[in-house]
Amino acid sequence: YFIDAHQCSSDAIRIEGSDAHHITRVLRMQLGAQVICCDGKGTDLLAEVKAVEGDAVLLRVHKRMTSRGEPAIAVTVAQALPKGDKWEWVLQKGTELGAVSFLPVLTTRTVVKLEAKKADKKRERWQKIVKEAAEQSHRGRIPVVEPVIRWSPLLDLFPTYDRVLFAYEKGGQPLRHVLEESRCERMLIVVGPEGGFTAEEAEQAQAAGAVAITLGSRILRAETAPLALLSCLMYAHGE
Ligand code: SAM
Repeated sequence: YFIDAHQCSSDAIRIEGSDAHHITRVLRMQLGAQVICCDGKGTDLLAEVKAVEGDAVLLRVHKRMTSRGEPAIAVTVAQALPKGDKWEWVLQKGTELGAVSFLPVLTTRTVVKLEAKKADKKRERWQKIVKEAAEQSHRGRIPVVEPVIRWSPLLDLFPTYDRVLFAYEKGGQPLRHVLEESRCERMLIVVGPEGGFTAEEAEQAQAAGAVAITLGSRILRAETAPLALLSCLMYAHGE
């Protein structure tokens, strides 16, 4: 369970709400049961159920350890918003695979149109999906779902990363070659919509410093591409 600073004082943790319900009603944990909490900043806290007070569960911390759930490489997934629940799939699976943040992008061929108000509501839901996936997969941090961004402001962010990989369905360098060249700590991967990138977007991405890469001679679904790429990156970085 991810906990905030206000829930934790020296060796005591107070858990309320849906997490407390999960401990007492879903898992039916008894006094003395072991629970692993995470401060969301890379530290895991091994704790024991000490008491149940109404809807709250009180834990005593036994041990603090550096979380093992965070990969050595910080990968941000920028993806043209796919239709239906595909984006939610990418958020959930991308979190399991170790992505540190997600940038939903509006490109020329993105079909999804989001009004600002709706986008805020959606983002709350997206962040919740990521939090649950982070808990399930024992991540040390909760990945961040950034606000929806347009293509041109996304290009402006490229220099803030060590390396930007542009997944281009029309071809690029084999991923293996690119990864052999050098290692990096902060990487952005950019994936297009169902209809693919326009030639202009491909040119702009490379002019802004991205390396166009291919994921092979088969065209992957929009929601498959970032997950395939993440898997390869984690493998290449020893994860
Ligand atoms: N029409 C299918 C769909 O509806 O999902 C395929 C979409 S594919 C054009 C979406 C994005 O996935 C592309 O813009 C690209 O970023 C990435 N992609 C898919 N296959 C790829 C490949 N073989 N190499 C590099 N990127 C790929």
